[in-house]
Amino acid sequence: MSAFTPDEVVNLDFYQRHGNFHPFTCPNRNDGNHRIVGGDLGALFPTVRGWICPFCDYTQQWAHGFMLKRGWQ
Ligand SMILES: [Zn+2]
Repeated sequence: MSAFTPDEVVNLDFYQRHGNFHPFTCPNRNDGNHRIVGGDLGALFPTVRGWICPFCDYTQQWAHGFMLKRGWQ
C-alpha cells in the first residue's frame, strides 16, 4: 500500500524545496550522523512509500493535506 501517489510525491518534493514552510526533518537529525541535504539538516525525502530519512531508518507516513495538492500555478 503506497503512502502517497506519484503526483503527490512530486508535490511534496516541491513543498520541501520551494515552499514557504520549514521542510520536514528527521527527529534524530542532531545525533551527529545526519548531514545537510535538501536544504536542511536531516531533511526528509518523499517517496510513494512515505517520507524517508537518508541517514537513518526513520520514516513518516503523513503530510499536511494541502501539501498533497499542487501548490503552484
Ligand atoms: Zn534520520
